[in-house]
Amino acid sequence: MYNSKMHTLGTNPSMIRELFEYGQAQKAELGEEAVFDFSIGNPSVPAPTIVNDTLIRLIQEKDSTLLHGYTSASGDRKVREAIAIDLQKTYHTPVDANLIYLTAGAAASLTIALKALLNEEEEVIVFAPFFPEYKVFIENAGGIMKVVPCVAPTFELDLEQLEQTITPFTKVVIINSPCNPTGVIIQEKVLQHMAQILRKKSQYYQHPIYLLSDEPYRELVYGNRSVPFVTSYYEDTLVCYSFSKSLSLPGERIGYVLVSPHAYQASDVYASICGAARSLGYVCAPALFQYMIPYCLGQTADLSIYQTNKDILYQHLVAYGYEVVPPEGAFYLFVKALEPDAVAFSKQAMRYGLLLVPSDSFGYQGYVRIAYCVPTKQIQAALPAFERLIKEYAKSGENYE
Ligand code: PLP
Repeated sequence: MYNSKMHTLGTNPSMIRELFEYGQAQKAELGEEAVFDFSIGNPSVPAPTIVNDTLIRLIQEKDSTLLHGYTSASGDRKVREAIAIDLQKTYHTPVDANLIYLTAGAAASLTIALKALLNEEEEVIVFAPFFPEYKVFIENAGGIMKVVPCVAPTFELDLEQLEQTITPFTKVVIINSPCNPTGVIIQEKVLQHMAQILRKKSQYYQHPIYLLSDEPYRELVYGNRSVPFVTSYYEDTLVCYSFSKSLSLPGERIGYVLVSPHAYQASDVYASICGAARSLGYVCAPALFQYMIPYCLGQTADLSIYQTNKDILYQHLVAYGYEVVPPEGAFYLFVKALEPDAVAFSKQAMRYGLLLVPSDSFGYQGYVRIAYCVPTKQIQAALPAFERLIKEYAKSGENYE
C-alpha cells in the first residue's frame, strides 16, 4: 500500500493550484478576456537577454559532456566561488564558497535545510501569513510547525509572541522577506531585535536556534528600499535563495542554500546539508543553469513592470475603498476581504472573473492575495470588476469593519 500522507498531499492540490486550473479551464471555455487570473506567482516578464545569450554561448563553446554532465553534488566550485564573491561585494559580509550548496530552487533549498537541521518532533516557528509549502516541508522533515501571526494592518513580525512561542524544542525560525503574500520587508531594527531574542533563547536552552531566511524575492523591492542580508545580523543563519523570480526562471530550478560562516560549527551544519540533499536524492542542481550563474549575478529581469502593476492596482483599490497592505517588495498585494470568510469572498470575486487566493491558504483569516505578476493590460482590464465587486458588497450591506 502506498503512503497515505503522500497520497493526501498528491490528491489535495493547494488552493492556488486549484484556482489556477479553474482559470485555465474558464479561459478555454469563455475566452482569455473573461478571466482575470491573479492566482499564481509565475513571473510575467522575460528573463534578461544576458540569460539566453549566456546559455547559447555555453552551448556553442563549452565541452558538451561537461556542460550536460554531473557536477559535484554541492555544485560547481567556480560557480559557488562566483556567488560568494558577489554576495561579499553586495552585502559587505563574509561568505564562504565552501558553505554554499547549489539547489533546484528555493523549494529544494528549504527541504534540504529543514532536513539537515531537524530531529523528529523538533519545532519550527513560522510567521503567518506564510508560504503554504512550509508546512509540507517541515512535516516531511519530521518537524512540528508553530505559527506566530503577524500584526495587522502593517503585518510586521510580532516578536513578543515569537519569544513566548519558543520552547526547548524550537530548532528553526523561518522568515521570508519580502514576504509572499504580504509584500512586507523585515526592517533592520526588527532583525536586530529578533537576533537578540534568538541569542538569549539559544543560550538558555543550550542549543542554537537557526534562522532560515527564505529569499526568492530579495531583489524585488520598490522605491529605494533594500533587504538586509540576514547573516550580518544573526550568526546561526541559513539563507535559501532562488533565481526563479529575480531572473524569471522558475521552470529551470536553480538556487542555493548557504550557511553563515559565523554559525556554530558551520562546517558540520554544511555537512548535514550535504547529507540531507543526498538523502532526498538531489544529485546536483541543473548543470547548464549552474554554469550560467557567474555571468548573470547582479542582473535581474525588467522589474519596472511589477512596479507599474503595483502602483496602478494599489492606487485604484485604495480609491475604491479596499484595505490593502502597502507592498514594499515581491509581486503580491494582500487585501482585506469584504466579509469575514475569505473563501466565501474569493468565491464571490470569481463571479466577476477575479481569481484571488483566500488567505486561509497562508494560515491567516480574512484576506486575499493578488499576484500582480501579470500583463499590465490585465490589471487595467480588471479594475472595473474590482470596483463593481466592492459596490455590490456596499449595496448588500455586507461590508464589515
Ligand atoms: N518561498 C516562497 C516564499 C515562494 O513564494 C516560493 C515560490 O513562489 C518559493 C519559496 C519556491 O521558489 P522556487 O521556485 O525557487 O522553488
